[in-house]
Amino acid sequence: MENRGAKPENVEIGLGKESFGVTNLQDHNIHTEPELGLDIMRHSAAHLLAAAVLELWPDAKFGIGPTIRDGFYYDFDLSFSLTPDLLEQIEKKMKELQKQRLPYEQSEVPIDEAIALMEEAGQSYKTELLHDLKTKGTTAVVKGLDDPNVFKTGMETVTLYRLGNFVDLCRGPHMEHSAQTGFFKLTSVSGAYWRGDEKNKQLQRIYGTSFETKADLKEYLARKEEAKKRDHRCLGEELKIFTFSEEIGAGLPLWLPNGTIIRHELEKLAMEEERKDGYQRVATPHLTKADLYYRSGHLPYYREDMYEPINIEGQEYFLKPMNCPHHHHIYSAEPRSYRDLPVRLAEYGTVYRFEQSGSLNGILRTRGFVQNDAHIYCTEDQAKDEFLRVMQLHERFYRLFGIKNFYMRLSLPDMDRLNKFVDDSESWTKALKIIKAAMEESGLPYVEAAGEAAFYGPKVDFQIESVMGTEYTMSTNQLDFLAAKRFNLEYVGSDGQKHPVYVIHRAPLGSHERFIAFLLEHYAGKMPVWLAPEQVSIIPIAERNYEYAKKIHDLLFSADVPTAFGGVRVQVNHSNESMQKRIRAATMKKIPYMLVVGDREQESGSVSVRTRSGVDLKSMPVEAFLERITKELKTRQDLPVE
Ligand SMILES: [Zn+2]
Ligand SMILES: [Zn+2]
Repeated sequence: MENRGAKPENVEIGLGKESFGVTNLQDHNIHTEPELGLDIMRHSAAHLLAAAVLELWPDAKFGIGPTIRDGFYYDFDLSFSLTPDLLEQIEKKMKELQKQRLPYEQSEVPIDEAIALMEEAGQSYKTELLHDLKTKGTTAVVKGLDDPNVFKTGMETVTLYRLGNFVDLCRGPHMEHSAQTGFFKLTSVSGAYWRGDEKNKQLQRIYGTSFETKADLKEYLARKEEAKKRDHRCLGEELKIFTFSEEIGAGLPLWLPNGTIIRHELEKLAMEEERKDGYQRVATPHLTKADLYYRSGHLPYYREDMYEPINIEGQEYFLKPMNCPHHHHIYSAEPRSYRDLPVRLAEYGTVYRFEQSGSLNGILRTRGFVQNDAHIYCTEDQAKDEFLRVMQLHERFYRLFGIKNFYMRLSLPDMDRLNKFVDDSESWTKALKIIKAAMEESGLPYVEAAGEAAFYGPKVDFQIESVMGTEYTMSTNQLDFLAAKRFNLEYVGSDGQKHPVYVIHRAPLGSHERFIAFLLEHYAGKMPVWLAPEQVSIIPIAERNYEYAKKIHDLLFSADVPTAFGGVRVQVNHSNESMQKRIRAATMKKIPYMLVVGDREQESGSVSVRTRSGVDLKSMPVEAFLERITKELKTRQDLPVE
């Protein structure tokens, strides 16, 4: 299982540096750690790949060949470009060598001997690595210092592994012999600069994978093929959801009309559901004075996730990385009594957070995004029920989107560290108790992750899985007892005294950016009718049917249906192309309905309905169709197509 965009978007800011570091451990996903056995097998397969390349092209030079999440790769310097045909040839050679049960032979040799050996073989990349090992004790280009295998001083001996004629510099471990490399497949080739530096020569990187059973391999390849079709960047372009412009800047998406419709529909959904739960809507500015962030704790501790300040008349302002402090100010803008609580302030709020250009990924990881944010201010007695309602809201949304696999992850503090850093471990324990009670009562599945909590209070992440099995961290919820102190968030109790409030941070639909990326993959671009940017394409058969087509268009266009902008989103396609071609065009655009109208339909006041999945719903009166789509829009659920 892959975890897309695991970096949390809506994690709140806590007390200090430590808390951010701990929070970001979310990037490690328990589901993505490959099993050790599989990893060794794949690593051994990477040697097998190199051995095969050496057999076929003795002049080949070798870079490095590690394992990666779903397989392995090896970098080669070859005098020609690898083609799919050549990959097949390599695979064939690998299978030959696999059958020979060649042992992985280990030898420990003095480093100078290894250097001489590689030099003689003309393996300049390996020689370079060996020289680094000799002088620095590491081959790491950048950050290797936290690698426990990196030595601070030079090495005197190294281990070499021989497989057939191929000798590699490697730490191991490997399988015993080549027959134990499983069912493998070379999947692709791409260019890769030696040591990741574009000033160096570009090598050819062959990617492959290997599984213990043939069925596992087959399943993996099928899933990969399907995932390619569902890549949100491709679908986003194909369906004209969003685009990027070099001149606007990386990581700053432009939402096209189609994507903007989806955003508005999601906001409408959120607003309706939040209204039922007693939220009030607010709006806040994108720029804010530095002082606010010192008070909230974003500065100086979160500085590296914020953009450089903007100077306005001698004052420092920042693009806001979070909406919380703004909502806090709205809360405290007037005196609050216990009778006013809970106060629930909601906003689709835009935030800006620093991302390296290299880690940007379509709309899944951007430099600015719009969060389905809200903050609930309540008394201690209300906190459990409020938290529970937030969980139930998540559940309602997930059910609506057909998200079957999801769970909550409660991050627990490392109590030793907690006692060291937070003088308020009592409040912490109390908050944790409240959350646990709410989680238990919700009946939803959850796991506990020890030592991953932030320090300002317990948090609960919602992990959701698309139909492809990709896991996303969509929403982070927190019960915050520190905001009250920092921002003097209080209420007057029935005793006439001031008391601090609890603050619940929540964002069930994450951000538009991440959620829509998720939906594109989840639905393979076939959005349910209520979310589809275009819902109906009317296709008149002949020119004489145009007027009738226009009449149906007007009826649907002005129909009383609960869409974000009112009316059904409908267009008449009266291009000169054949009917078949126009049906195909609508299918490509994944428009849920095509209404074909000819003389027969015109005479009977009906439409011939086809769906994007190619199902013919036959002819029906226009009113019947309107009734059908109205029902779908009202319930936000597509009716089954037989
Ligand atoms: Zn190895
Ligand atoms: Zn917040």
